[in-house]
Amino acid sequence: MTASLVGIGAAPGIAVGPPLLVEPPVTEVADPGPAGPPAFEKERLHAALTQAAEELHAIAERARGFAGDEAEIFEAHAAFAEDPELEERAVALIDAGRSAVAAVGSAFAAFRELLAASSSEYLAARAADLDDVSARVVAILAGVARAPELPPGRWVLLARELTPSQTAEIPREQIAGIVTETGSPTSHAAILARTLGIPAVVGASGVLRVADAARHIALDGRTGEVHVDPEEEVLEAFAVRDAQEAARRAHLDAARFEPGTTADGVAVELVANVAGLDDITSARAAGAEGAGLVRTELLFQDRRVEPTVEEQATYYGAVLAAFPGQRVVFRTLDVGADKPLPFVAREPEPNPALGVRGVRLSLRRPKLFEHQLRALLRSHRDRPGGGVTGIMFPLVSRVDEVVAARSELRRVADDEGIALEGIEVGVMIEVPSAALAAERIAAHVDFLSIGTNDLLQYVFAVDRLVAEVAELADVCEPLVLDLIGSVVEAADRHGAWVGVCGETASDPGVAGALVGLGVRELSMVPGALGEVKDLLRRHDLATLRSVADQARRAASAGDARALISRLG
Ligand code: PEP
Ligand code: MG
Repeated sequence: MTASLVGIGAAPGIAVGPPLLVEPPVTEVADPGPAGPPAFEKERLHAALTQAAEELHAIAERARGFAGDEAEIFEAHAAFAEDPELEERAVALIDAGRSAVAAVGSAFAAFRELLAASSSEYLAARAADLDDVSARVVAILAGVARAPELPPGRWVLLARELTPSQTAEIPREQIAGIVTETGSPTSHAAILARTLGIPAVVGASGVLRVADAARHIALDGRTGEVHVDPEEEVLEAFAVRDAQEAARRAHLDAARFEPGTTADGVAVELVANVAGLDDITSARAAGAEGAGLVRTELLFQDRRVEPTVEEQATYYGAVLAAFPGQRVVFRTLDVGADKPLPFVAREPEPNPALGVRGVRLSLRRPKLFEHQLRALLRSHRDRPGGGVTGIMFPLVSRVDEVVAARSELRRVADDEGIALEGIEVGVMIEVPSAALAAERIAAHVDFLSIGTNDLLQYVFAVDRLVAEVAELADVCEPLVLDLIGSVVEAADRHGAWVGVCGETASDPGVAGALVGLGVRELSMVPGALGEVKDLLRRHDLATLRSVADQARRAASAGDARALISRLG
């Protein structure tokens, strides 16, 4: 039966092929049977966790060959299996009379609930990772086979949600594409699909029902379209799209290592947002000229104790080593009540987005802040290949916070005996009061990096996690473009440069307008660099300025967007 639906595009590309249902991993055994003596069950538990960890280390080793840094996902999974707190929880359940298989299932389920309840999309997406590990341990204990043998051929995998190890264990050449009922584009399975170049659509609600007994599935991993047993015209249209995509990719690929510039040669630094070591591979492959936003919170979030200064310095050093001679901007810790840190006890807040987050937390936890600054300074001192290292403070709302953060940086640098040479200090402009105080803030720093994700949230009072009101927060609203223009003008008066590192920088037309407003650094997801570079190289600065000036004075966001979209 022919049917069409739309999910979320998670990895670009067109795929057509017969569907193959991938069953979810078994995370709990319905009838685990009677428990043996506790000592026996504990021994079985420990052996199964050890075997699972060994298997995961081996998968990581193998995945390094085809997925580069993404293979680290499996090392993280191994760490789940080796987590002493998890084993302790399961042991307590065994002591209460449960079997090893029942106990480990419940212990993982409890961890999963904690993650799934997190308001952070990133942490919630990690819940699926935990299932993956849990299924492996349960399968070992129950003595059932994992990783089903696939019939020969190339398939469109259909699943409620694919786990990373299912994605990595099925041979790449047998996967034409992936469609899942649920899942998020930030799940590790989606990240892996992007790395492996497998077109994927997630969140295709209802697909398992309509595709039952289907013969063919066609999907577009960019638009999220899924067609079940498509008509001939759909297949023809998809073939044309496929050819166009391939030609476009080849065109963008050819210019990937060219510098970012306008048609008349005005340099615009096109750099990448990096959240973990995984992103570095894609940033480098996409020709990023550096990193404009290194989100450091990942190093802190999944931890029960604060990472040591040495551990942090090693991590920052690894990021710096990936961009020799280029500018790398680290953002100091941006966590708060909505992204809690297990090792920082805090009272819950009614409005976490307005509470103690970003630099507010760093200034209230001087040791935490000091340790991070020490690590950043040491990694800069030991940086191989040189290059400018940026250190910027998030969620600044007042000039005195900038003064305090900067003076702490100077104090720690003096204490370490490290000169600030080669270090640029910056502030993220994410709060309206900071945008309005840009002139005074710019007097204290080398650069301002506009975080439009939060700036839009606070300008429009639109929670960035609530989809229903998302369209109210539009960067093309002339008042926002005007605010950004005035931030650039204020910074110019103090010789500070201005970048944009929010998601808006990855929209090619908007990026063109931002350059027209005077922004000279754009930091984005690596996958967007090619399209943005292409647009900038097609227009001279005078054109971009004229579009930006008109958009800034337009009557509505619609009018401004129409002007911007003419940039093509
Ligand atoms: C932003 O707010 O635009 C930004 C880049 O920071 P984050 O999305 O990490 O809050
Ligand atoms: Mg932000």
